[in-house]
Amino acid sequence: MSITRDGVVDWMRRFAGEMDEHRQELVRLDTAIGDGDHGTNMDRGMKKALEKLDAADQADAGAALKTVAMALISSVGGAAGPLYGTLFLQMGTALSGEDEIDLAAWTAAWQKGLEGVQARGKAVREDKTMVDALIPAIEAMESASDLDEGLRAAAKGAEEGMRATTPLVARKGRASYLGERSKDHQDPGATSTYYLFKSAEEALAGSG
Ligand code: ADP
Ligand code: MG
Repeated sequence: MSITRDGVVDWMRRFAGEMDEHRQELVRLDTAIGDGDHGTNMDRGMKKALEKLDAADQADAGAALKTVAMALISSVGGAAGPLYGTLFLQMGTALSGEDEIDLAAWTAAWQKGLEGVQARGKAVREDKTMVDALIPAIEAMESASDLDEGLRAAAKGAEEGMRATTPLVARKGRASYLGERSKDHQDPGATSTYYLFKSAEEALAGSG
């Protein structure tokens, strides 16, 4: 089993659907420890990304992810837009020219994406950011024995990472301005990242 260009486009469609469906939840989380725009930012950005994906045929999975990246970078003003943009740009570069993506290529692309997010945002584990969902998801993928298991384990890892942000004190982004008061709130960016992995599992696991 492998991931194709059409699978990646389906994944992005589902992620856009999750951002639409969970916009209010993400707004509520970002209102508690930020400025309340994360849900609207991500929903707007992903709607733009779908417009761009629909406007032209994508040569391969890598090209599709680069298209999404450019849409997010150009349409989302907050911190997360450019960070997600970097994630998808790095993944797209890693997957360029790949027609059938296996577990090793998929995992390597996520590793490149995470490196890009960390190079740009300087967040490490337990800074209470999207990185806290990315790292356990990618680690789960690394220990999986096939793609299907990797997709399922990554979503589970991201969910656990998301929940584990609640007791943390934020050390990066707007939430860090609150210091100790950022405790006892789930991080909005880690939450949208969980939906990214959940979408991947739903779009790509069991696809044969
Ligand atoms: P802004 O904070 O500019 O309003 P958003 O509300 O869209 O942007 O996104 C906030 C989320 O971005 C946070 O919940 C966090 O997960 C993520 N984030 C912020 N700064 C960083 C960073 N330096 N590295 C990684 N993720 C970050
Ligand atoms: Mg915000």
